[in-house]
Amino acid sequence: MSDDPRRSIPRTDALLADARFASAVRRLGVDVVKASVVEAQRRARSGELAPDAVATVALEALPGSATTLRRVINATGVVVHTNIGRAPLGDAAREALLAAAGHVDVEFDPTTARRAPRGRGALEALRERVPAARGALVVNNGAAALLLACLTLAEGREVIVSRGELVEIGDGFRLPDLLQSAGIRLREVGTTNRTHLRDYEAASGDAGVILKVHTSNYRVEGFAGVPRVAELATLGLPVVADVGSGLLAPERVLPDEPDAATWLDEGATVVTASGDKLLGGPQAGLVLGDADALERIRRHPLARAVRTDKLTLAALEATLRGPVPPVLTALRETPETLRERTERLARRVGGDVVEVDARVGGGGAPGVPLPSLAVALPGSFAEPLRLGEPCVVARTNGGRTLVDLRCVPSESDDEVGEAILAVAAAVGH
Ligand SMILES: *Cc1c(COP(=O)(O)O)cnc(C)c1O
Repeated sequence: MSDDPRRSIPRTDALLADARFASAVRRLGVDVVKASVVEAQRRARSGELAPDAVATVALEALPGSATTLRRVINATGVVVHTNIGRAPLGDAAREALLAAAGHVDVEFDPTTARRAPRGRGALEALRERVPAARGALVVNNGAAALLLACLTLAEGREVIVSRGELVEIGDGFRLPDLLQSAGIRLREVGTTNRTHLRDYEAASGDAGVILKVHTSNYRVEGFAGVPRVAELATLGLPVVADVGSGLLAPERVLPDEPDAATWLDEGATVVTASGDKLLGGPQAGLVLGDADALERIRRHPLARAVRTDKLTLAALEATLRGPVPPVLTALRETPETLRERTERLARRVGGDVVEVDARVGGGGAPGVPLPSLAVALPGSFAEPLRLGEPCVVARTNGGRTLVDLRCVPSESDDEVGEAILAVAAAVGH
């Protein structure tokens, strides 16, 4: 029995003492590494593996990281895609996230050793970018920002909202349901296509707030209209205006999209917005506007329940102060550059270059097509591209897979090419 090869299967403690396993334990945790070792040993005992292959096989079977979230390359042409994490962060924000991962002075003043206003750097950056905002608050997401602003400023009275602005956003999330679930009484005015200033005026007796919502994912065309923020602001009630998209100032590529600065200039008391849409930052909700209103909102008990963490505050500040974030780079990509990149990819992988419409997506510029280009591949490529490493998500249309580089960082073009070639080799194209 002494020459039984199973006796030479390396022992767990011996393997874990090896530098390569020790480093894996630091990255992935001991349980994951042990499980991989135990599985390789089992296969060796059953004769499936040679004993001297146990270490290599156990190392190769380890997951790439301690999270199951997989990196995705966005070749859909949809700039803000909720299902794949909306805005990708830029390098400045990624660095800030890492730096904030340890202890940071998020709510601490090192000069006095006392508590300091939480996330003050991000709040200052917001006020610098939107000078009309005398106060600012960052919460968990856009929905929380809207809820908190309405709850605080309505003070138990009704919130007036146009029937044309009762929005369902995605995954069945309805804005009126959100507000009502927190006990807010909505007073719907007007009709689906038209609401007049006099409709708001007639309802203002019992109301505490006028709510204006950007209809960020649909458009009512034809005989349609709602009053502008500037008109609503003449009625003497606080106006909460939800811009949704997170544009802080007008964006030349999207001339019809509302922005926080313009609505504040028009007289909104506060505007609310998301951080991870066109702002290009982390998931967050912004409330910007009147200083007194912001102080009351900040002190509302619910504010504590929707507070942002230090990572969000760090990434948001870096997005605001740093270079143009990837979302805006994608949006502003010139037709010439896009054509060059797409043709280079088509030469490499052998598909046709076709004209397509990209989309802003996720709460911005509904119905506004972004003229774009794609490499057209067989429809059967879409699934293996998604299941490959990295996961490349493209659009499928009319039996074709359309790879649109607009939202792909240009330094990842080669990676997309390799992924396509790997799929072509696998399916024998
Ligand atoms: C996206 C959106 C919201 C919700 O924002 P989240 O950050 O997803 O919570 C609210 N209102 C409008 C108009 C939006 O577009």
